[in-house]
Amino acid sequence: MNTEQFYPLYLKANKVTIDSRKIAKNDIFFAFSGENFDAASVAEKAIDQGALAVIVENKEFENSEKNIFYVPSTLEFLQQLAVHHRNQLNIPAIGLTGSNGKTTTKELIHAVLSEKYNVQYTFGNLNNHIGVPLTLLSIKPEHEMAVIEMGANHQKEIELLSHIAKPNFGYITNFGKAHLEGFGGFEGVIKGKSELYDYLIAHQQTIVINENDPIQVEKTQNYSNKITFGKESSDYQFELFSSDHFVGLKYQNEKALSKLTGDYNFTNLCAAVSFGLHFGVDFNKIKSAIENYTPTNMRSQIVKKEGKTLVLDTYNANPSSMSASLNNFITFEGSKTIIIGDMLELGDESKKEHQNILEMARKLGFNEIITVGKQFKNVNAISKAFEKTDDLIEYLKENKILSDHILLKASRGISLEKAIDFI
Ligand code: ATP
Ligand code: MG
Repeated sequence: MNTEQFYPLYLKANKVTIDSRKIAKNDIFFAFSGENFDAASVAEKAIDQGALAVIVENKEFENSEKNIFYVPSTLEFLQQLAVHHRNQLNIPAIGLTGSNGKTTTKELIHAVLSEKYNVQYTFGNLNNHIGVPLTLLSIKPEHEMAVIEMGANHQKEIELLSHIAKPNFGYITNFGKAHLEGFGGFEGVIKGKSELYDYLIAHQQTIVINENDPIQVEKTQNYSNKITFGKESSDYQFELFSSDHFVGLKYQNEKALSKLTGDYNFTNLCAAVSFGLHFGVDFNKIKSAIENYTPTNMRSQIVKKEGKTLVLDTYNANPSSMSASLNNFITFEGSKTIIIGDMLELGDESKKEHQNILEMARKLGFNEIITVGKQFKNVNAISKAFEKTDDLIEYLKENKILSDHILLKASRGISLEKAIDFI
């Protein structure tokens, strides 16, 4: 079975899934063989449930009469099928990577471009070597454009994802201190993320850059196929304004206020608006897209609870996004408590980075600092330090936080959002 033989069947399918619980009629199921995974019975069951075809990587489970097909590697076949599909599609794809803000920027670009086009985009955070192919395979004939988030935590990953997604436009949100372990330090991050530029340059595609970011400027300085924003001499110029801690953007004489907090979201907005203007969306439409976009995903979300203002940013954390978040939160008027959790995957830099953040938090002068996680506990001798979220919850059951404003931010693995109900 090769991708060309299989492609006609794929075109008849409703969707492609790798999750046996989500199989519906007319789907194609890619069975990844896990250790405790009885692929044979799952494959048969999928067909009984109405699946159009199943791909298995165990030869003995093959049953072509039932449309259960064997391939040596389910993952490779998924990627190859996505590439084949991408090659048939004659639509522009926007590829996004960066250390922070990919999902937010992706959602904003989607909101803006959807004012004029039928846009397919990465669902949630499905941005890896499986998620990117699945996103591509979800593109249907009616779609006119695609926005693809590409995540990475080591070298060569963005190269692979670029060769699968074949973006015609690319934007790197920023180069930050995330996944330092896998990338081999900050220089490694720059190199790894820049694989998107390498692809775009080699294929003569368009790079969108923020001219306020010296790394983006330097990395693309000898390349002319660019769309720029950020400086007075850039293609598109925007000004930041804010109202009640929400970030807004001024363009010419018009204003659009988002429901996002944190100045770093200004850059995300600038990128989304640049794409919108480039693709000919009227600014009025862009404005309404931005004003209507509501984050619901624990990323820079403001929630009012019993007279208190909670800033929820528990989706992820690393030194760059943590310091951006603290700098934003300090501007809130009134008393402020921060509950910050460990920043994971920092490798050798971990201790130092946690120390730096704690020092920064103390200098900024929050009314109360609470930390959650072993890394912070190691370096936090002065403030309240809990080893895990459950310990914080036990504390919160007995003690109320008195500040008017409370920031919660941590890496995903800390599950800090579990504490929200106890504040
Ligand atoms: P992941 O690696 O989990 O896919 P991501 O790159 O998709 O993350 P988002 O989920 O959009 O990033 O945002 C995560 C957090 O990063 C936000 O809640 C915010 O704290 C921070 N952040 C967002 N945009 C930026 C930015 N442009 N610069 C720095 N930090 C940012
Ligand atoms: Mg993301």
